[in-house]
Amino acid sequence: MGHSRNRLITHPRGAAMRRTPDEPLKACIKHQHGYFRGEKCQYCSEEGELVMSPRHLDQFGRVMAGVLRHFPDRFELEMDQQGWVAAGEFIESLKHQRRHFSYLTMDHLKAAVETDPKGRYQLVDGRLRATYAHSIELELDLPTDDVPEHLYFACSQEDSNEYLEQGLYPLDRQMVHLSGTRLNALEAGRHIIGKPVVLLVDVRAAEKAEKPIMKAGTTVYVTYEVPASCLRKLPDSA
Ligand SMILES: [Zn+2]
Repeated sequence: MGHSRNRLITHPRGAAMRRTPDEPLKACIKHQHGYFRGEKCQYCSEEGELVMSPRHLDQFGRVMAGVLRHFPDRFELEMDQQGWVAAGEFIESLKHQRRHFSYLTMDHLKAAVETDPKGRYQLVDGRLRATYAHSIELELDLPTDDVPEHLYFACSQEDSNEYLEQGLYPLDRQMVHLSGTRLNALEAGRHIIGKPVVLLVDVRAAEKAEKPIMKAGTTVYVTYEVPASCLRKLPDSA
């Protein structure tokens, strides 16, 4: 198709980000190892059956993220306060409004959600939602148990002084997004100009201050705010 892997695209928030490599979505039918992304099943190395081409998966992933995080109204979907929409209505609406999604079934949706590398979606009892990065106001009820003692947030040197004084508040999204590791934080903050500063979040202190933090994705955690008293600069960042 002539486009290279890992090319830079413009992120909706204005930052440049790397695309994940184009991979097909497949199913291991022969040994029933489930859905997977890539050419071969990681358990049996069989090629499996194609569920979605890289192009279809890419198109679908963009629309799903957009609808569930930013514009359910555009697809006439009713979203509740926890971010859920009816999965069947989601599929019907996409099929109805975009002719190139006429092939979509619940199996495609299930496969895309199950294999999402960042765990960004939940599909439970016929309901579907994104677990983070919303620009619409919600009251997410994500798990607060099993959150590690420390989380990380990368920012510019200049912003760090303000955050250390005033705490962390959401800017362009509805919630503050924290990372599970220092490396994940630097990855999330790759658009920062200059040498980034990594802030360490004391999760237990935030819980004591009644600002619980929720687990939203594989390495992403969200909260409404982090008080300044729960933040400190990582010693190894300038
Ligand atoms: Zn297999």
